[in-house]
Amino acid sequence: IVLSRRAQQLLDTEAEYTVGGFTPLPGFMDRGKGAQLWDVDGKEYLDFICMFSAGNQGHCHPKIVAAMVEQLNKAYLINTSTHNTRWPVFAEMMCKRFKYDKISAMVTGSEAADLACKITRRHAYEVRGIPAEEVLILAVSDSYHGLSSGVWNLQDPSPARTAYGLDSAQHTNVNPSTKTLLRYGHLEDMEACLAEHHARVGGIILECIRNTGNTYEEEVSFARGIYDLCKKYNIPFIADEVRMGSCKTGKFFSFNHLGPDVRPDLLVVGKSMTGGAYPASFVLGDDVMMNVVGPYESGSTFAHTPMAIAAAEAALKVLDEENMAERARQLGEKFLELTTDLRQHPYVADIQARGADFSIPIRENPEGRVTARRIGGLCLSKGLLLYPLGGRLRMGVTMVMTDEQLERGVRIIREALNEVVE
Ligand code: PMP
Repeated sequence: IVLSRRAQQLLDTEAEYTVGGFTPLPGFMDRGKGAQLWDVDGKEYLDFICMFSAGNQGHCHPKIVAAMVEQLNKAYLINTSTHNTRWPVFAEMMCKRFKYDKISAMVTGSEAADLACKITRRHAYEVRGIPAEEVLILAVSDSYHGLSSGVWNLQDPSPARTAYGLDSAQHTNVNPSTKTLLRYGHLEDMEACLAEHHARVGGIILECIRNTGNTYEEEVSFARGIYDLCKKYNIPFIADEVRMGSCKTGKFFSFNHLGPDVRPDLLVVGKSMTGGAYPASFVLGDDVMMNVVGPYESGSTFAHTPMAIAAAEAALKVLDEENMAERARQLGEKFLELTTDLRQHPYVADIQARGADFSIPIRENPEGRVTARRIGGLCLSKGLLLYPLGGRLRMGVTMVMTDEQLERGVRIIREALNEVVE
């Protein structure tokens, strides 16, 4: 990728003065509208990532912007020292809509996942009588629930996490007896773990549908299996809907794909709950779990501020009014239709869509320079943002994307794929 002088300077400055964060694509985006972005040099891109599903409603949706500007001119931070009028009204609406007794607010998805784990631990202790220091929160391998000290432990062990001294046997995706990973897609691993340890498992946290190399059917059947195990042993099931909620998969929540009887004990939401315009995250659950939390035991200066709630109210309205679950389903169908010919491509292993979340696993051949990374780079230079990761072209589009934009994006992917075989 050839960067402009301006973009290269910014990249150098960032490298010199910052640490942490993620590994974004090399460009610097300056402006967005709907499914499009413009970089600092004015070059236009089609956005097939949409902030990893924080922007399901598209960049700068006019209704979300208007709601926020209106609130911004009134007050932006009323929260910890006085009440704000928006929060109780919003809380009631959310509880009634999603049929839970209580809601609690945080700022980021990581914090909400962290709060869900805290609630689960306390519930295990107070309601189930498990000694607090023995409570286990389980996840499966290859998951992401955030990088805070609490939830990082739910991910696969890594030398970095060990070096931070953050490995925890209490929040884990490792079977405490065998020290082996509870592998995603392998229900037998969780079955074996629960057979031995169920009496001290406080809860299991899972993202029900994910962007993986697995098929939709495999994902649904695995998530359903985990849910059924939770029911069998009477263990709370925590659904992490931070990324795949908010209509992304063609239904409001990804757990909705598991069957009408499925109801998580705790629901964790974030990202597109505010359309990516402002950070806000929430945990929903019934009294039996939620009421364990007392004052000064969770919260944040920036949780449920009027700005956050204005964004969330507007973002939710847009999801409903623009029928975005249905649009996500249509975009998925259309994507599969448009890419039918690509299934014959020698380096395409599969083509997957779960609503507006897409994935193309690549048969990588690093010696032949055929890698998802190189294909992603070619797409970027042709004006299409997608994210190569784990040998896949990872994509998730906004539901305001037009058919024409989807077609244009697929044309670029086809061109890039053809270039790597030339
Ligand atoms: N859970 C899931 C499933 C996520 O995808 C993410 C973010 N990618 C998080 C939690 C953490 O959210 P945040 O980055 O807002 O802390």
